[in-house]
Amino acid sequence: MSSVLQTVRGPVPVEGLGLILPHEHLFTDLRGPLAPGHAQADPETVVRTMSPYLAAAHAAGVTALVECSTVGVGRNVTVLQRLAEATPIHIVAPTGVYRDACIPPALREIEAEPLAELWIRELTEGIEGTGIRAGFIKIAVSDEGITPLEERNLRAAARASRETGAVIASHTIGGANARREMDILEAAGLDLRRFIWVHAQSEPDHAVHLDAARRGAYVEFDTVGAAFQPQDVLVEDVLALIEAGYAEQVLLSHDAGWYDASQPGGRPAGGDIRGFTALVYEFVPALRARGVSDEWIHLITVTNPARAFAFT
Ligand SMILES: [Zn+2]
Repeated sequence: MSSVLQTVRGPVPVEGLGLILPHEHLFTDLRGPLAPGHAQADPETVVRTMSPYLAAAHAAGVTALVECSTVGVGRNVTVLQRLAEATPIHIVAPTGVYRDACIPPALREIEAEPLAELWIRELTEGIEGTGIRAGFIKIAVSDEGITPLEERNLRAAARASRETGAVIASHTIGGANARREMDILEAAGLDLRRFIWVHAQSEPDHAVHLDAARRGAYVEFDTVGAAFQPQDVLVEDVLALIEAGYAEQVLLSHDAGWYDASQPGGRPAGGDIRGFTALVYEFVPALRARGVSDEWIHLITVTNPARAFAFT
């Protein structure tokens, strides 16, 4: 069987896909899982709000988008299903959990083993009684250091990945956290070629990026187009990995969006939703201007995310 992305609409052959955005958000609620009405919204309002951004991304050549909001920060499978019906872009949904402070009570009490079983079921059977299968494992470690519960999550993720082949993407601020996390994952038997260091731009030292790449990990720079991120620094980050021979492990995304379920009606129209097109219209031209060829750009924006998220 050929490689597929496991999307909200079902399996999609990666062959023939174009640009894939490995880290974005469509629907998110950052208030924490105990907030009243957490992760709830009228799906039609979400579709109406997000449709222009999805249409613009499609027009820019985006063929698939990975939604990184897990349970605890807004995963809502009904909303994702309605969005998937309303856009030609393939949407990939996560299993997993976000960092310690956002882990729902029911998932705090259990051991790594049953947690892995839950995630494996979401990857192989479906999420919350639907037939919609998760397409990857999203986790996170706290910015100030990995907590015991997050260490449990890492072991559960390694087990679920080894069993299903799903890639693990982890929110990880700074190289010290990334190193410790990769050590834990390797000790749990994970081949780091199934691991994505999310937010690698948070570590300024290129040597640390190269070290993660040398160990096999994907190194994801996901503040493309963000106002707070100097884009020339991000260009240098990418060039350093290309020049060291690790172009095959670079991932680029916006970490943008999203319909904010913490505000009734979402964010106001024309408010602070960020779109998904800066990569195509601004960042790729900036890479080209620095001598990065179309072949490398295709590798980084099409081949790498397809390989990372594929099930074979
Ligand atoms: Zn994100």
